[in-house]
Amino acid sequence: MKFLIMGPPGAGKGSQAARIKNHLDITSISTGQMFRDAYKAGDPIGIKAMTYIEDGNLVDDKTTNNIVWQRLTSDEQLENFILDGYPRTVNQAKALDDMLDKLDTKLDGVLNILISEDVLFERMEQRRVCKDCGATYHLTFKPPIKEGVCDVCGGALYQRQDDKHESVKNRLEIYKNKTKPLLDYYDKKGILYNINGMQSFENVHEDIMLVLEDL
Ligand SMILES: [Zn+2]
Repeated sequence: MKFLIMGPPGAGKGSQAARIKNHLDITSISTGQMFRDAYKAGDPIGIKAMTYIEDGNLVDDKTTNNIVWQRLTSDEQLENFILDGYPRTVNQAKALDDMLDKLDTKLDGVLNILISEDVLFERMEQRRVCKDCGATYHLTFKPPIKEGVCDVCGGALYQRQDDKHESVKNRLEIYKNKTKPLLDYYDKKGILYNINGMQSFENVHEDIMLVLEDL
């Protein structure tokens, strides 16, 4: 099973992807995480990517496609995966189709988490991330047991630069302009599945599992 999880920034894609990964034991591929890892490792790709990300911009298509292709071909052939944060433009979607074509496979489905803009702003400004393990928290809906400290590993929590107000505004604008045409692209292929994102984390997960069972 190969599928994407989409939705505006702050819709909980990353957390849902992690939940699905645990539930189904499949590989999760997050371009955001790959860029952050590359950055930490001092890899030029990561350093270049981070200059875009910190301003709330999309990393250019070529760099992004390259890091995905590296990942798709790095292990033994990936039979099952969920892609999070990629593709973000129609050009990237076409590039992904070409990559999968080369690997003699295709996408089974695209999950799209729907959510209103007001709710998104509120969520992102309250999001905190662990510096060490990347676990995410929400100050109201999913607070850590001890303020400022990760439940999982004890690492320090911080607000990502791209979760701050101006950056959030910029990301939502980019999402509307560039990513929405993607939904039409996948809708035309008949593989787009909309998920109501304005319910509890577990209910969103259940709705996702119902769609996946039918893929
Ligand atoms: Zn942690």
